Amino acid sequence: MTDYKEMWKGLGLDLETHDAVLDIVGKAYQDVFLSQNNRPKGMEYFDFVMSEIHGLRIKELLDAKQEGRKVIGTFCVFVPEEIVLAANAVCVGLCAGAELGFELAEQYVPRNTCSLIKSAFGFKLAKVCPYIESTDMIVGENTCDGKKKAYESYKDIVGNLYVMDIPQTKSQAGRNLLKAEFVKFAAAVGELTGNKLTVENLKKGIEIVNNKRNAILRLAKLRAHNPVPISGLDVLLANQVYFYDNPERFTASVNAICDELEQRIANKVGVFNEGTPRTLISGCPMAVPNWKIPHIIETSGATIVGEEMCTGERGTQNLTNVNGNTIDELIDNIVDRYMKIDCAIFTPNQSRLDHIKEMATKYKADGVINYSLQFCQPYSHESMTFGKELESEGIPVLNLETDYSQEDVGQLKTRIEAFIERIKK
Ligand code: SF4
Ligand code: SF4
Repeated sequence: MTDYKEMWKGLGLDLETHDAVLDIVGKAYQDVFLSQNNRPKGMEYFDFVMSEIHGLRIKELLDAKQEGRKVIGTFCVFVPEEIVLAANAVCVGLCAGAELGFELAEQYVPRNTCSLIKSAFGFKLAKVCPYIESTDMIVGENTCDGKKKAYESYKDIVGNLYVMDIPQTKSQAGRNLLKAEFVKFAAAVGELTGNKLTVENLKKGIEIVNNKRNAILRLAKLRAHNPVPISGLDVLLANQVYFYDNPERFTASVNAICDELEQRIANKVGVFNEGTPRTLISGCPMAVPNWKIPHIIETSGATIVGEEMCTGERGTQNLTNVNGNTIDELIDNIVDRYMKIDCAIFTPNQSRLDHIKEMATKYKADGVINYSLQFCQPYSHESMTFGKELESEGIPVLNLETDYSQEDVGQLKTRIEAFIERIKK
């Protein structure tokens, strides 16, 4: 096994705490993923990626930097990767899914802040994230109030934060705002990298990202089959790695899994028995190593057939039109695509509700599990209103609110098991 200690030391990590984190994540991975039966062989690629998530991938980022490329870290699916790639920079997701450094984080954000934000602070302050330390620019987006205010202090902690405004309505004014922000972002990325946008490099960026989205959407579609050919946990993992990996390699690996699953479907091979209750998860993003709820669902007698989340189809649906003769036309195409993201920060947000219904039908879900992080106003609100609407249309719903701790596992399991009993009937 390669020793990355010197690399981590060079990045300023706290080696002792970092070792403990790797140990915890490694054990959790073993329990949650490697204990599953009958996984597709292609998942070995993701097992490898996860075993090297702080090793080989970081080395690749540092090698890219040596070659003069820049690394741009993101927290949100609103950051246009197409523009980052066009400037020959590397895009990496920074969202963190573990309860770590929360006491340190609470010196900067109120206690009643969601776990996603707290862990972004915690990972930085506890010096355990080699991704954060490898970045040349971190993009913060003004989405929910929690993030907006948090970035005001995050900027002083990281020193390389670029903040982008995001509209809150799907109006013409909202679109104009997003376009102005993307144009400004493209200029900032151009300045950082020394690479100006051209029609050619922008088209190439769009194609790389479209291919990646196409592959993951192809994987999603295969889950409509019964028996389901892959677990929800494994697809969630692919959706999480989507944010870290080299995009071309990721695309090829996901397509290889899809080829394998098509064979499984032809042979009627599944990971769960035919007739296993099928659920759709909807709500806040789940960042690595936040596998708590999917693990409970899939070890309680049900399976997950779709994720209406940013680490899922909310982040990957809709491709960008690659046709255009000028940079302005291509930026317009990118803006059109990103305006369709139905994050709960939008008001009203009918398209998200429509998408949940569409996914429930497409993937033949027997029920929807709404997942909100505690203190997340936008998603908790929508869980209530959407939950009522879905139930009124005959779609059973379970609303769960949780955080990154393990304290509520027993209680969650009881509620999830009761819900599975209900949808079985
Ligand atoms: S939920 Fe909204 S704010 Fe969070 S990553 Fe998704 S789009 Fe961004
Ligand atoms: S989970 Fe909710 S509160 Fe937390 S960052 Fe996302 S939208 Fe904001």
